[in-house]
Amino acid sequence: MNQLLAETITNTVKKVMLEESFVEVEASGRHVHLSREAIDFLFGEGYELTKAKPLSQPGQFACKERITVAGPKGKLENVVILGPERKASQVEVSLTDAVALGKQIPVRESGDIEGTPGITLIHNDRQLELDKGLIVAKRHIHVSPEDAEILQVENKELVQVKVFGERSLTFDEVVIRIHPNYRTYMHIDFDEANACGFRKGVLGKIIKKSPGSQPGGSRKAAPLQHTPAETELGKMTELNQKIITENDLQKLFLQQITKVKIPAGSIITPLANDYVRKHKLEILRREENKG
Ligand SMILES: [Zn+2]
Repeated sequence: MNQLLAETITNTVKKVMLEESFVEVEASGRHVHLSREAIDFLFGEGYELTKAKPLSQPGQFACKERITVAGPKGKLENVVILGPERKASQVEVSLTDAVALGKQIPVRESGDIEGTPGITLIHNDRQLELDKGLIVAKRHIHVSPEDAEILQVENKELVQVKVFGERSLTFDEVVIRIHPNYRTYMHIDFDEANACGFRKGVLGKIIKKSPGSQPGGSRKAAPLQHTPAETELGKMTELNQKIITENDLQKLFLQQITKVKIPAGSIITPLANDYVRKHKLEILRREENKG
């Protein structure tokens, strides 16, 4: 397949994904960002870090050099350094790492390190005491300005993101970060990745915190959804689970099924209820035979 065609297909799929509020999720392992002064001290005056692997965000890269992060209780060895160098050094670990280090670590957005604890960085015989910069990164979505238009999100907005799969999980308090240099990816740490059964390429669906009452009156109307009237009406199926989720209904709706029979005592989640209203689905409760 030629390059241009491949790119066109990728871009088309991405646009459809965004229109349906899906973003790709990436898991960030523990890592360190270093200032020029820190590199000079730990590696030698004027040392240049070696690029080993580009990251999804343009200009960001993992370095070949590794470093030890030491706390009062224990240390983390071979921690990756992410380049390029930054104004201030910053160490991002998980809450599990916090226990291993023996530190109380606040959840912060990258760059927001005022009042955060310090930590020790070790490379060979050099030991650097940072007086601040140790954080657990707040889960976030990098969004390009173009994609922000499609997703209808604003900078600093907090959203929920549902990650699908066997350990499907909805993350709350996910901060949107919009910048022209960003490519659209959600970032979670390894604790969060394990909690939701993360696999490379997994998708998350953005759920607005207050559906129906979008902030900022200048928003464009949401893209038109297919209503059952446009599709084949009356296809029916049965579900047997005790809890009916939005995801269950969405799967059926994509097969143009608009009538669903469910057990008498089933619970329909609030999001699923919204979905029923939005898509004018018909929910029929089965008669209970016995208790
Ligand atoms: Zn990130």
